[in-house]
Amino acid sequence: MRFDIITIFPKLFDSFLNESLIKKSAEKRLNTFFVHDLRQWAKGIHKQVDDRPYGGGPGMLMMAEPIVKAIKALKHKNIKTLKQKNKKYKNTKIILLSPAGKQFTGELAKKLSQTERLIFICGRYEGVDARIEKLVDEKISLGPYVLNGGELPAMVIIEAVARLLSGFVGNQESLKEETCLIEKKIKKEYPQYTRPEVLEIAGRKYRVPKILLSGDHKKIIEWRDKRCG
Ligand code: SAM
Repeated sequence: MRFDIITIFPKLFDSFLNESLIKKSAEKRLNTFFVHDLRQWAKGIHKQVDDRPYGGGPGMLMMAEPIVKAIKALKHKNIKTLKQKNKKYKNTKIILLSPAGKQFTGELAKKLSQTERLIFICGRYEGVDARIEKLVDEKISLGPYVLNGGELPAMVIIEAVARLLSGFVGNQESLKEETCLIEKKIKKEYPQYTRPEVLEIAGRKYRVPKILLSGDHKKIIEWRDKRCG
């Protein structure tokens, strides 16, 4: 799967894309990640990407034009500006990160993992010119709170989507039992334990439930099933 991120702070993605399983997935060519500095599509020596809102009001808004140009360039086949071969992705979704968008869930992550390519528009300032919504497929919120920018939400969505792709996690089975939201109800994974068998916290001893040490797989499954929410 291919992920494109349009941002005015590309460096924020440096460590995210260069550590752990995300990095490995790129090395294995499961995923490709491209971070694009929006300013390359801005005009003038100052590469301005923000302006005052019409009608007044506090703060600045991200201008539509650089974003429209960025999307056009990214969707176009052989763009010279990107120095990379741009394969034609039929199944592309453009995502605008916004606190006013649809709440991101595990179900939405599954839906997005079925696309070939995701393009993220990371807002900053007071948000983006509303006309940008005309070219987006999904407006997604990470939750009912306001962050400074769309970069962290983009990282969260990328990680949640990428780990669903076959080959991303070592053991695909582990994904089946994970906590998720189904039809507005949260389905919780059973509690899990690892060494040591007895753990001391503030003078109290906490033991791993005996059943998990029994080797009786049938009983372990029953125990786990009872504890799934
Ligand atoms: N004035 C906007 C509002 O009240 O909806 C908030 C703008 S916020 C400071 C700047 C950018 O951060 C947004 O355009 C969006 O891209 C991103 N952002 C902030 N909170 C977010 C959230 N909960 N989910 C997704 N994106 C968010």
